[in-house]
Amino acid sequence: MAESALPDLELVIAPDKVLSTPCKEVSEITPELKRLAHSMVRSMREHDGIGLAAPQVGESVQLAVVDFHRCTGILESPLIMFNPVIVRADDRKKMPLTEGCLSLPGGSYLTQRHAYCTVRYKQMDGYHRTLAVKGILAVCVQHEIDHLKGKTVADIGTPLTENTENTENDETSAESEKA
Ligand SMILES: [Zn+2]
Repeated sequence: MAESALPDLELVIAPDKVLSTPCKEVSEITPELKRLAHSMVRSMREHDGIGLAAPQVGESVQLAVVDFHRCTGILESPLIMFNPVIVRADDRKKMPLTEGCLSLPGGSYLTQRHAYCTVRYKQMDGYHRTLAVKGILAVCVQHEIDHLKGKTVADIGTPLTENTENTENDETSAESEKA
């Protein structure tokens, strides 16, 4: 399918009910949902995000996309995840970081995320996949799954004031990433 044939999606900005409503589970991956997934990948790239969840484009379904390449540096297609769930995570290894969100323009939030976790989801072809993720990829997956539960980083994090400088820790260099 040519990307130009995909409909343009408008980003939902908070506050909006769709962002605070838990999304419906997907039972069948219809052609419409496949189209939505491809449109979301395009929209994520257009908005310079590393991930995007369906409620962020006004669709209350359990579908999220993550830019694998931008999260890991590895040349891989974006993850397209239906009904994603974290099936394993190590509570002892949490990492503090600063996150942004495409639905909360200009906002930065301090969060604590699992540094490693395992996510299980349905792929576009209907088969399940279980994937161990770490670092920014793990953070992005957790961020998107929160969206599908009706939560944003504003609900789980601490807002940073505009003049908060974060110059001492290079490991938070992904802090400006939005998803
Ligand atoms: Zn977000």
